[in-house]
Amino acid sequence: MGSCTAYHIAKHGKSVLLLEQFDFLHRRGSSHGESRTIRVTYPEDYYTRMMKEAYKLWEEAETEAGYMVYHRTGYLDFGPPDNQSLLSVISSLKKEGIAHQILSHKEVTLRFPTFRLPKDSLTVYTAEGGILRASKAVAMFQALAAKHGAVLRDRAKVLRVSPHWRLPGGADGILVATSRGSALGKACILAAGAWTPQIVRDISGMELPIKALHTSIAYWAVNKKMNPDALSPARGFPCFSSYGEPFIYGTPSIEYPGLIKVGAHFGVLCDPNKRSVSPDMETLKGHVSPWLASYFEGSVDWEAPNMAEGCMYSMTPDEDFILDHVQDQLAIGKSKILVAAGFSGHGFKMGPLVGRIMADLALTGSSQGVPLEMFSIERFSKDAQGNHKL
Ligand SMILES: Cc1cc2nc3c(=O)[nH]c(=O)nc-3n(C[C@H](O)[C@H](O)[C@H](O)COP(=O)(O)OP(=O)(O)OC[C@H]3O[C@@H](n4cnc5c(N)ncnc54)[C@H](O)[C@@H]3O)c2cc1C
Repeated sequence: MGSCTAYHIAKHGKSVLLLEQFDFLHRRGSSHGESRTIRVTYPEDYYTRMMKEAYKLWEEAETEAGYMVYHRTGYLDFGPPDNQSLLSVISSLKKEGIAHQILSHKEVTLRFPTFRLPKDSLTVYTAEGGILRASKAVAMFQALAAKHGAVLRDRAKVLRVSPHWRLPGGADGILVATSRGSALGKACILAAGAWTPQIVRDISGMELPIKALHTSIAYWAVNKKMNPDALSPARGFPCFSSYGEPFIYGTPSIEYPGLIKVGAHFGVLCDPNKRSVSPDMETLKGHVSPWLASYFEGSVDWEAPNMAEGCMYSMTPDEDFILDHVQDQLAIGKSKILVAAGFSGHGFKMGPLVGRIMADLALTGSSQGVPLEMFSIERFSKDAQGNHKL
């Protein structure tokens, strides 16, 4: 999110400094690895609408970079016929006029013969979906930001953000002290993933309700008796989401031949500074293995993943993002410290749009027409009875 934001600010011709505590493209946060899924299918129509815009921005960045990070595979969403989220996905697609097909069990079996979906499954196919090459995409935005004049510094941990410093000329500025020196600027955008609450707490005393959850990226082998390409996009195999408990998502064999990526939208509480980067085999075997045994009966080796590593979610209570200003104790009106965090396991696909929104907020004070009420910090505040709204 930080790299996308730096790109959009630099593209406006403004000076911007992108800071990273570890090496660029490290594997200790949320955005590393071979892939993240991209889809328009969301139960909330505001995300479906935002995805229309995000797709354009992915394409624009790819064109500028001269290489691709999006691989279209098509997307299959399925689940019990009365699953409320899945019914809302279909209603969002209709409302936003996005082409989709509701497939019968027979049609699913004909088109995707390796899937063993329950007979009464509700299944919707959208052509506009697939994977984003995750680390490659982050590197692309860093390269584009640098091309437009951004200054990039890694191994520079932000230690303190202090508002109300005087800029040359007398205006109010923000001092950012890092392990490699300090910088003074007109605005500061915090996109520190699961580390964001710590930084915000230090600035304002405010507790952002973002939980760091340890989760895993896992690849499973296509069974040897199958053609290793059987679950590849070349054979029409799509990315997918299975609605229910747990929510399962997956990608075809695209990153590694003969392996598919399948994971559970689930994680265990962790401390971002102390967590191990090893995968959580207990969750994978407890949640994903039984699902694979049933939904890919005989075609995928479900007992244990062939390859896996840890990753981290930064989860809000409602799984909506936080895109807002941080109120510091002395600020009158909107502060120039902003936060983009709490992407709750589904934010990667929105990266370029989040970057554009944050750049617009910092440079103009407006999100240029993108509604942001559902992403406000205010939604976590207490109601008249003193209860937290969420
Ligand atoms: C297993 C897994 C699967 C996912 N699948 C999908 C998917 O299919 N589709 C999708 O859209 N999304 C998906 N997501 C979610 C998506 O990857 C995240 O929402 C997104 O990557 C969050 O990016 P971020 O920039 O907020 O966090 P990060 O990538 O963690 O970036 C925050 C950065 O801030 C740096 N930082 C922190 N503190 C400091 C400091 N004090 N000083 C300097 N730097 C600091 C960190 O080192 C880090 O590099 C998935 C996430 C996981 C873990």
